[in-house]
Amino acid sequence: MQVDYIVVGQGLSGSWVSWFLMQQKKSFVVIDKNESQTASKNSAGIMNPMTGKRYAKVPLIDTVFPFAVKAYQEVGTFFNRQFIFPTAVIDLFSSKESEALFLKRKVAEPTYLSIEERTNYQKHFTIEHAVGKINDCYRVDVHLFLNTIQGYLKSQNQLLEAAFEYEQIEIVGDQIMYKNIVAKHLIFCDGISVVDNPLWNKIPFANTKGEVLLVEIKNLSADFIYKNKHLIVPLKENLFWVGASNSWQYETDKPSAEFYFETKKWLDEFLKIPYQIKAHHASIRPTAANRMPVSTWHTIYKNVGILNGMGTKGSFHAPYYAAQLIQQSN
Ligand SMILES: Cc1cc2nc3c(=O)[nH]c(=O)nc-3n(C[C@H](O)[C@H](O)[C@H](O)COP(=O)(O)OP(=O)(O)OC[C@H]3O[C@@H](n4cnc5c(N)ncnc54)[C@H](O)[C@@H]3O)c2cc1C
Repeated sequence: MQVDYIVVGQGLSGSWVSWFLMQQKKSFVVIDKNESQTASKNSAGIMNPMTGKRYAKVPLIDTVFPFAVKAYQEVGTFFNRQFIFPTAVIDLFSSKESEALFLKRKVAEPTYLSIEERTNYQKHFTIEHAVGKINDCYRVDVHLFLNTIQGYLKSQNQLLEAAFEYEQIEIVGDQIMYKNIVAKHLIFCDGISVVDNPLWNKIPFANTKGEVLLVEIKNLSADFIYKNKHLIVPLKENLFWVGASNSWQYETDKPSAEFYFETKKWLDEFLKIPYQIKAHHASIRPTAANRMPVSTWHTIYKNVGILNGMGTKGSFHAPYYAAQLIQQSN
C-alpha cells in the first residue's frame, strides 16, 4: 500500500490531523490500538477561556478559540452532526479566596466574567459564597467526534486497529516503510506512548493523571457546566461527567478508591438532589513539561511529524495545532 501519510493514534490529535489531510485530499492511513481508556475518551470537552485557580486567560485565545469553533462546525456540517455547543461555567465558588480572585479578575475581564443571582442555584446546590459565571465557553461532544471520525475512516478502509510497532519503521531517503505500507510522511499522535517512540522520546513530558465519575442526575439543567471543588459537565440526557483530578504523581493509570470516595463525599455535601454513580474512569493526559502543545517536524527526518502534549486543553488546541502541522508539511 502506498500513501501520502501514516498517522499513528486517533485521539483528538490524530482525528484532527486526519480531518485536515481529508481537506487537502491526501491519501493516508491511521493506525490506532483502540484502547478503552485514553485522555481523549475521558475528556469532558470543555473549552473554557479563563482557566485554573487564577482565572488566567488562555494564551492565544483570540486565535485558537475561533479557529476551533469554526473547525468543529465545519466537520459538523460535513457529517451532518453537531459536535460543539456554546455554554457557560456557573462558578459556585468553593472558598472565599476563589470568590475574591474571581471578583478581582472580573474587573480586567468583564466580558468573560460576570456575577449570577445565587437564588437561581440554591435549589440544586449547597452554596456558601457568591456565584460567578464564565461566559463564552463551549463544550465539545468528544465521544461523538471521535466515533464519527473512526466510523468514516473505517468506511474508507483507512483505519488499521493495531498497535504500531516502532521498531518496524524504516526510513530510506524520502520514503517511510512500515510493514507493507510505503508513505511520504509519518505523523505521530500517540499520546503518552511517545515515551516508547525512538524518534520523539527526547521531548520532556510531565503527564498528569485525571480521574472522573460518570453520574446520573435527574432534574439538573444541561445548559451549563457547574464548577465548585470539581466540575459537573452535562454529557447526554441526565448523565453528567464529574471531575477531574489532576495529579502529577501517580503509581498506576487505574481509577483509585481515594478519588471515588473523596468525590462521592463532595457530591453528598454539594448536591441537594439525588444522584447515582454509574462509572469511574481514569487516564493520563499527555502533557509536555513546558505545558505547550508539541506540533513540529523532525530535524533529521523531515517527513516525520508529531502532534502531542495537549495537556488539559486538547479540545481546542488539537484543531489549531493540527492545521499548523499539516500546513508546514513539506
Ligand atoms: C479526565 C480528563 C479530562 C479532560 N478534560 C478535558 C476538557 O474538558 N477539555 C480539554 O480541552 N481537554 C481535556 N482533557 C485533555 C484532553 O483530553 C487531551 O489533551 C487530549 O485528549 C489528548 O489527545 P491526544 O490525541 O493527543 O492523546 P490521546 O487521547 O492519548 O490519544 C492517543 C491515541 O494514540 C493511540 N496510540 C498510542 N500509542 C499507539 C501505538 N503504539 N499504536 C497505535 N495506537 C497508539 C491511543 O490508543 C490513543 O487513541 C482531559 C483529559 C483527561 C484525562
